[in-house]
Amino acid sequence: MMDATITAQPLAEKLPRDSDGWLLCSYCGMRTELLDSSEDIYGKDYGPVYRCPIGCGWVGCHKDSAKRKPLGRIANLELRRAKQAAHVAFDALWKRKGYLLGGRRQHYREARRNGYRWLAGQLGISEDVCHIGMMSVEGCHRVIEVCKPYDRGWR
Ligand SMILES: [Zn+2]
Repeated sequence: MMDATITAQPLAEKLPRDSDGWLLCSYCGMRTELLDSSEDIYGKDYGPVYRCPIGCGWVGCHKDSAKRKPLGRIANLELRRAKQAAHVAFDALWKRKGYLLGGRRQHYREARRNGYRWLAGQLGISEDVCHIGMMSVEGCHRVIEVCKPYDRGWR
């Protein structure tokens, strides 16, 4: 009998990189290619994207990142949808908290930081991998689950 706890993917993990620090595909392990424009993929340019050369998936880059820091691991359609849903659930929580703290930029920043700390505790993972971009589908589902009791249902 296989043990599901051993074969299951971790909820979140550091991005796989080669010895040069270049992003690898999380599915097949190949070196990703960096496209200057996401127009080919999205039909609109949202900036550079890392893409798996054999088509496992892709991921965008942080805005205004000169170093073209990827937003997370290479994601296929299922993971991209899970990440979007996790962001909808989680961002509503910390944004509301930021608003209640005073609604200024620093309040949102503080609320977001505290939110991720709380999330790491809820998921039982280390804070340095507690970013939705580093999560597996299972991790994203857990985010939605732990945020649910606080959902105001306004969306
Ligand atoms: Zn791949």
